[in-house]
Amino acid sequence: MEKRIVHLLKHGNLRATSARRRVLEKFILAGSHALSSYELEQTFKDEVENNGLEKIDRITLYRTLKTFEESGIIHQAVDVSGKSKYALCSEDCSSHKHDDHHAHFFCKKCEKTVCLDDVKIPVVNLPKKYQLEDSQLVLSGVCDECQL
Ligand SMILES: [Zn+2]
Ligand SMILES: [Zn+2]
Ligand SMILES: [Zn+2]
Repeated sequence: MEKRIVHLLKHGNLRATSARRRVLEKFILAGSHALSSYELEQTFKDEVENNGLEKIDRITLYRTLKTFEESGIIHQAVDVSGKSKYALCSEDCSSHKHDDHHAHFFCKKCEKTVCLDDVKIPVVNLPKKYQLEDSQLVLSGVCDECQL
């Protein structure tokens, strides 16, 4: 875990602050599952109450997420309601360019959003003079874990 955190911060050219380390730890534990800032806030609240860890206020959390996104460490994964969630990036992402052109799956049962790394967003041909900056493909249904 520690190694992974150090590696990712280095990859993003970021200084290791305690807030950054703790946020990153949650993303590593979540794996391909996306986390919303609300979920993160709740987790940190629990940590403060149960483990006596230092509080991470909302502004710090938002700033940390933004910094991670700009550094190519996490990417946005929108769910069906259009709410933003975030998930870890692949190694190919950097501060210059994100390479997460995959679909996200929203499970209606567990309400988790998962990165489908192997399901690529198809290339679309836009009308003339339209410039594409971002594309999201959200699929919904029931995930593998909920079918057991
Ligand atoms: Zn990325
Ligand atoms: Zn599910
Ligand atoms: Zn993703």
